[in-house]
Amino acid sequence: MYYNESTIVYLNGSFIKATDAVANPYDQTLHYGYGAFEGIRAYDTQNGVRIFKAREHYDRLKFSCESVGIPYPYQTQELIDITYELLNRNGFKDAYIRPLVFCPPNMSLTKGKAAQLLIATWEWGAYLGEKLLRLHTSSFRRIPPQCFKVEAKVSGHYVNSIMATQEAKDKGFDEALLLDIDGFVAEGPGANFFVQSEDVLYTPQLGSILPGITRATVIEICQELGIEVVEKKLKLENVHGADSAFYCGTAAEVIGIESLDNIPFQLQWKDSLGAIIQKAYKNRVLEQEFRLQEVA
Ligand code: PMP
Repeated sequence: MYYNESTIVYLNGSFIKATDAVANPYDQTLHYGYGAFEGIRAYDTQNGVRIFKAREHYDRLKFSCESVGIPYPYQTQELIDITYELLNRNGFKDAYIRPLVFCPPNMSLTKGKAAQLLIATWEWGAYLGEKLLRLHTSSFRRIPPQCFKVEAKVSGHYVNSIMATQEAKDKGFDEALLLDIDGFVAEGPGANFFVQSEDVLYTPQLGSILPGITRATVIEICQELGIEVVEKKLKLENVHGADSAFYCGTAAEVIGIESLDNIPFQLQWKDSLGAIIQKAYKNRVLEQEFRLQEVA
């Protein structure tokens, strides 16, 4: 469950009990998927509770709303302050935070008349585990930029993600990998993709993917550690049987991939660049120092 009797959410200007939070069945978002949301993490760091990349997430929420014409009468700093207050009122330290901007009743296909804002949060410990994913290439393609604002995190977009993930699970895999409309590798249903070949990391260029905040952090970490990253169009044939691969995202953090379409990646996860980045990412979210020598 995401909440209990004592959980507090923030809804339209007030901190209220989750059990008292209601939406209108005629809300435009409920019918058409016309809303925008974020997925954010807070970590119990040595410096206290810290929302990781809070500014980047709330700036993206604004961008997402503006991309599709949803009114956005909020300031990033105001929302960050509210979120810290919400964590505090719930007594959460390691948590997932879900802001959702949704539109009031309107059954017509016109832009949102006003915005409503929910911020919900639930406890969620840092994962960054040893689990490795078995992926399959989805029969569903990512929605092309000609058809949607793919760089916006808009609710309706996630029907595509749900179909891809469920298809993967129905076939006995852990997760899907989606191609773009032209057949190049795009991303996971809720995470960005990196593949290692020799000592270089490759990741799909922007265009048909959500520009992940974790993806940007991974690229930043690589620059600091002197790991070469190339953003380009990737063919499936260059991924099958490559040295290693991983997914990254706020929820997934950095998670290794064992195989794609039952074709294993060559390196043991512990010997891959992804394993180094996983440790560096963990240190970063927990605000700890990271030295490459520690990895050995
Ligand atoms: N791609 C998709 C489709 C996603 O939903 C997510 C999760 N927001 C990501 C990538 C990763 O983005 P981020 O690192 O900003 O969480």
